[in-house]
Amino acid sequence: MSSERFLLLLSLALTVLFCQGWGFAVHRHIHRSAVDALPPPLHGWFETETEWLRAHAVDADRRKAKVPKEAPKHYLDLDAPALSCLDVSKGLPSFDCAAEACTEDTLWSYGVLPWNIQWTYNRLTRAFMEKDKAQILQAASDLGHYASDAHVPLHTSLNYNGQLTGQDGIHGLWETRLPELYGDRYWLVADAPEYVSDVLEWSWNVVLESHSSVDSVLRLERELVAEWPGDLLVREERGRVVQKQRVPEWCALYDQALEGMVERRWRGSIQGVASLWMSAWVDAGQPNLDSLFLDRVKCGWWKRRFGACPKSPGNG
Ligand SMILES: [Zn+2]
Repeated sequence: MSSERFLLLLSLALTVLFCQGWGFAVHRHIHRSAVDALPPPLHGWFETETEWLRAHAVDADRRKAKVPKEAPKHYLDLDAPALSCLDVSKGLPSFDCAAEACTEDTLWSYGVLPWNIQWTYNRLTRAFMEKDKAQILQAASDLGHYASDAHVPLHTSLNYNGQLTGQDGIHGLWETRLPELYGDRYWLVADAPEYVSDVLEWSWNVVLESHSSVDSVLRLERELVAEWPGDLLVREERGRVVQKQRVPEWCALYDQALEGMVERRWRGSIQGVASLWMSAWVDAGQPNLDSLFLDRVKCGWWKRRFGACPKSPGNG
């Protein structure tokens, strides 16, 4: 096998491996922007750990290979025939109700995303109550990741990578390629966070909203591919890896056809993450966290920047 062919295969394998929620860069951007969107005093505390939250925004994806049952926490294949037992028109089911209707095994096979957001939210609320800084950071980071994944339409479909309709690779196209090409033109300043009184309902609504876009995501890609007269793929070097990517001219048409969908879901993720972080702190009784973050707050930003402050307990 030629080395070029090997690199191409490797890049395709990497695409499959990382085909999971927003691309890493977007997840990191969402966490950083969610910190910016927080009101005081939470903003002041989290701002001292922005770098940590940004760096750990994709821990949950990295755990998939090592931790059993991690992967289904990132999606819900709502259109899977096996989940026809979930009749959301009759109400948004709790995990227990859904397990009663479909069996627990079925849920773990086709995804538990909306319930997992609630479980992780409860973890964060508990960590705030216990004033456990390492747990606060880890739970906030995980909650931000899962809530962001829920905003991605293809995380709510069995056809998550177009593999059932000959549209393989559409996952990375939507969540990584378009943000890479057009992210700097998107309006990503989120609305102010809002208190979420019912987290399960919020999670379900985000998942259902995402799911309502699955059809357009797939159909528009299929139509634009059929109409495209030239080569669809271009080879791009990423460090030492050569990747096959959709040509930017075609991507521009697709982004246009989606009418701001990627931008809206990205901005919605930022507002959603900030809202959940803030609500968990409110539900925990709005504890004063000065003592946890004080050392870092006292330590000027220029020292933090050069690593001259006390270490975050979440590091390591
Ligand atoms: Zn994920």
